Amino acid sequence: MGRVLIIGAGGVGAVVAHKCASVPEVFEEIMLASRTKSKCDKIAQRIGGNRIKTAQVDADNVEQTVDLINQFKPDLLINVALPYQDLTLMEACLRTKTNYLDTANYEPRDEAHFEYSWQWAFQKRFQDAGILAVLGCGFDPGVSGVYTAYANKHYFDQMHYLDIVDCNAGDHGKAFATNFNPEINIREITQNGRYYQDGKWISTEPMEIHKPISYPNIGERESYLLYHEELESLTKNFPTIKRARFWMTFGQKYITVLNVLQEVGMTSIQPIVYEGKEIVPLQFLKAVLPEPASLGEGYKGETSIGCQIRGIKDGKDRTYYVWNNCNHAEVYKECGAQAVSYTTGVPAMIGAMMVLTGKWGGIGVKNVEEFDPDPFMEKLNQYGLPWNEQIDQPLPVEQ
Ligand code: NDP
Repeated sequence: MGRVLIIGAGGVGAVVAHKCASVPEVFEEIMLASRTKSKCDKIAQRIGGNRIKTAQVDADNVEQTVDLINQFKPDLLINVALPYQDLTLMEACLRTKTNYLDTANYEPRDEAHFEYSWQWAFQKRFQDAGILAVLGCGFDPGVSGVYTAYANKHYFDQMHYLDIVDCNAGDHGKAFATNFNPEINIREITQNGRYYQDGKWISTEPMEIHKPISYPNIGERESYLLYHEELESLTKNFPTIKRARFWMTFGQKYITVLNVLQEVGMTSIQPIVYEGKEIVPLQFLKAVLPEPASLGEGYKGETSIGCQIRGIKDGKDRTYYVWNNCNHAEVYKECGAQAVSYTTGVPAMIGAMMVLTGKWGGIGVKNVEEFDPDPFMEKLNQYGLPWNEQIDQPLPVEQ
């Protein structure tokens, strides 16, 4: 049915490649390209069967990416490199009239600030070119938006309160490691928190608001209010929402180590001169931390990510909780990954499948919640991320 070009051969890229390779009736030809080609080759070898072509590309370089696209001629480019590459990859897609999909919104390198404005600004150019960009198609953002659209379509006349809850109750046995790219992860959690209430954004100190929340099959875990990018698109696309918050769990040891790193300046993104060379402390820290793709072996426990929503149906109060639990050891057995890479890579593959099979169509720049959630929800059950739901039960985030 189609050809996909996957950019980025980290933890998430490996899962996207594995999952696409397992559905040859949709993904006829697959190319995996990244800055370091040997990482692509290793993934391709593990998958086997000559299913994956590989290439080297610097995705910061539009010309290089355009050349690669012109050689391979994909129907869709899946961006699972870093958020820094979003704009150059969208530009390369425009120049070659190629559809685009990603899992994280753009961030400038020199400022820990992320919002959709830069990517939404491509709207008219994508429409004029007759191509589609699907933004934020991992788990959160991604499935969190699809869950919300599904709730809105089937269970609510009006949604009022949305809480996205993200728990990783796993143990990788390392002293300190992040589950996705360390630089992006640490930038995200050390910035101020923010949530949406009555049309305004309310800022908090980093990790200032926290409380225990109970997660299915896991129990209570301390959960911290963070700003997360899908809050911006979901409150825009579902304007009846009065309050939207995002919660993520962190263990005490993780927070203690992170505080020390922050206090000694290791998480700073301001360049310093070291032995005559300019370095960014956070990038140096990334170089000494384990790579997310290497964490899978021996990782125990599970993740639980979901949406808890309160609103109105047929004039009555309604609550709805929809979630997925994903077991680190099981996904390691399936494709050598840990659950955070897996829960991001599987939705990226399903989003690509939606575009290639015409279930999600149209032109322009769209967030996942703007499409029909039903075919995507069906594929989540089929491809490894089954979901559960509870209707009109007390919401754990409100207990
Ligand atoms: P990794 O750090 O493991 O992998 C990133 C990959 O991108 C590496 O292969 C890296 O190459 C490659 N890369 C970086 N810069 C370039 C460049 N200029 N040109 C080509 N390739 C490049 O990160 P993850 O796999 O954990 O995360 C990938 C993406 O997924 C990130 O954007 C992250 O924010 C997003 N994500 C989204 C989630 C969601 O639920 N929506 C959850 C988790 C992650 P090299 O190895 O050479 O450095």
